[in-house]
Formats: sequence, C-alpha cells, structure tokens
Amino acid sequence: MTRTPRLSDPATLDALRSCVHCGICLPQCPTYRVLEEEMDSPRGRIYLMRAAAEGRTPLTPGIARHLDLCLGCRACETACPSGVPFGHLLETTRAELTRAGVRSPQTDHGTLRALLEVFPHPARLSALAAMTSLYQRTGLQAMVRGFGLLAPFKKLRTLEALLPPPPPASAPVPELTPARGKRRGRVGLLTGCVQRVFFPHVNAETARLLAAAGWDVVAPRSQGCCGALHLHAGRLDEFGGFARDLMRAFPADLDHLVTNAAGCGSALKEYGHWVAGADDFAARVRDVSELLAEADLPLRELPLTVTYHDACHLAHGQKVRSAPRALLRRIPGLCLVELADSDLCCGSAGVYNILEPEIAGDLGRRKVDRIRETGARIVVTGNPGCITQIAGEARRQGLALEVLHPVELLGRALWEG
Ligand code: SF4
Ligand code: SF4
Repeated sequence: MTRTPRLSDPATLDALRSCVHCGICLPQCPTYRVLEEEMDSPRGRIYLMRAAAEGRTPLTPGIARHLDLCLGCRACETACPSGVPFGHLLETTRAELTRAGVRSPQTDHGTLRALLEVFPHPARLSALAAMTSLYQRTGLQAMVRGFGLLAPFKKLRTLEALLPPPPPASAPVPELTPARGKRRGRVGLLTGCVQRVFFPHVNAETARLLAAAGWDVVAPRSQGCCGALHLHAGRLDEFGGFARDLMRAFPADLDHLVTNAAGCGSALKEYGHWVAGADDFAARVRDVSELLAEADLPLRELPLTVTYHDACHLAHGQKVRSAPRALLRRIPGLCLVELADSDLCCGSAGVYNILEPEIAGDLGRRKVDRIRETGARIVVTGNPGCITQIAGEARRQGLALEVLHPVELLGRALWEG
C-alpha cells in the first residue's frame, strides 16, 4: 500500500512550521539564483505550501506554477539549519495538486504526460532509442541540424540537442555475475530505464566492478522502473505500483540493492516514507560508489586531470559526497580538481530540462562555465541525467569535454590502465 501523507497531516504541518524564514537556503537555490523571485525560492515555496496546509488559501494554478518551477534538487535541505524536509513537502504538495486537479496553464502537461508514458518503460524507451540511433547514424541528424529544421519546434529541439551519441555495443547485464576472488556477499543491481537503454555500458561496468570487488551480482530481467519520475511529479499511485513491482523482482535475501543512478537511488532509499513495508528494502540500498569505495581493487595508473560534479540526488538526496571522490582519488596518477559550485544543479532534474528549457539551459551554461575554469576536460558524475545535460551543453558550446560515470573511469584503471 502507498502511504499518502496529506498537506493537512499534523506531521506535514509541523515540518512546514519548522521553517524559521532565515533565508540561509536562498543563495543555494538554483531557481532563486536564476529568477531572483522570493516565491521561486525554498522559503517562498514553503510559505505557499504552509498557507495551503493551514487553509489560508486554496491550492491555485499560481501555487502549482511556483512548485512546477522547483527542480526538486534539495540543495535547500542541505543548507537548512532547521532540518526542513523540503523534498517530502514538495512531493506531498504535488500529490495534493494532482488529487485536486489543480494545474498551471504555463506548464507543459502534455509533454510531461508523454514523457511519463515513455521514460519509465524500458521497452518503449528502447524503441525510441532505436529510432534516434538510426537518426544519428544515417546522417539525418546532421542534415536536420544543418538546415535548422527543428527551429520552430522548441521542445523537440531541446530533446534532440540532449540526445546522447549511440552507446558503444554492450551485452545486457547477465542475471547473475559471480563474484571473483574473496566473496563478500550478494547484491542486486538496478539496471534502471535511461541507464539500461542509453548507457548500457555503465551497467555492464558496474556489474563487472562489483563482481571484481567480491560481490555476486543479481540483475533480474523482470525488474522495471523504480518510479522516481512519478514520485517527483506527485503521482503517488503509479509510483507505488512501480515500487511494489520492483521490490518483488529482487530476491529478499540480498545484502544490498545497488544503483548507479543518483535519482533512482534517492527514490529507492526513501521507499520507506512512501510505501508501507518498504523500510527494510530501503535500508539496504547503496549507491555503487559506496560499495566500491570500500573495495580493494588492483587499479593501474591513469594520468588524467578530472573534475567531479555532485549529482543533486546523490549529494543532497542521499548525502553521498565523499565516496565517489575517494573512489577517484584511489586511481594512481589521477588528479582530481574540485569544481566550484559542484553541488549546484546542472538543470537536468529528471525531465525538467525538457519541460523548462530556459532555466535548465541557464543552469547548464553555469555548470559548463565552472567546469571550463577547472582546466579539466573530463568531468565525472553519478547520474545519467546529469551526464546527458552537461554533455549536451558542452556540445552546444563546442567544448571538447568527456562526461563519464565514475565506474567508467574505474573500469579504465582496472582493465585498461
Ligand atoms: S529543491 Fe532546489 S530548486 Fe527547489 S526550492 Fe529547494 S533548492 Fe530551490
Ligand atoms: S527552509 Fe530552512 S534555511 Fe530556508 S528559510 Fe526555512 S529555515 Fe531558513
């Protein structure tokens, strides 16, 4: 059963009232930095949610719009000295808006609906990927771009510009990859939707590295989507269905359930808040960097300068910051340069970069500008959405930048270095 916290619940009201309006979160909020509007800051959004929760205003399309513009990045949670659980409050209010049928006319609900019909369904996403691969490989893409044929179609143009190059050929992750060397236990691997279809080599590398670190890796073919996109969109019923199916797909006795996608990991670690009986499953979820940082792998030298972008749902959602850095620092010869504003959202935020291309574009530009300043021409980050967004903006700027998942670099050091 899905737990459905309501805006008027005493626990929700207490959480909303724990905001003391200090404003410490404002400079950390990406939408406040871009729009400079109080109502597009965490404090302003909390004010609106609290007014609705206390019955001082009905939920209105205006309130919906300010919440639609929120990236859900949760940088405000990290900054907040009062511990306001902004992510849960945002999702609770979005669910309340969905229930009440209140929507902003300025938000592109048609595109959102279409994306939710495709992205969480690997079979549909694979069909789309096959078409886009053909489009890229046949030279059609070069022609369309050359003649500016998508110029009148803003959303399509945005989507097209984000298309990652066709991935290298990679066999699907086997249902069982046995541990090598000293066995540590058994883990499940979430293969995800976007990761499985557009970055299958990242999944393959994740399984190989975990096995090399001593874990039997189980990746059931029957697993589906974790439901994160539906959760963030406030569609709790559909989210609950995805969550229950996913939990059923994995054996119950795994030591851990491993993800290599920050957005999925953040949702999985919070299953207990939203789904009855999911606490034990959620407690066993780990980002791949958390397990590999403890592993003793015979890494060879990789004389590269790289920088690291903190995916919001890893840094703010899961509080995982040191493990990916520790992992990179263990590669001999690798120089890790810190990135300014490393944990400021790159604008990806699930499907936000397609729905709100102006704000997302502004944040993408800021991110690539900061990366440029480091001098590194390789940036590492643990989320497929961030990889797509940063690579897309680098291509737009004509910057030769490699955007990699940490396991890709680790794999190079282990197998090719
Ligand atoms: S979640 Fe991110 S965008 Fe939304 S209010 Fe918090 S800091 Fe701002
Ligand atoms: S959310 Fe936290 S940091 Fe932001 S204004 Fe409220 S108490 Fe201050």
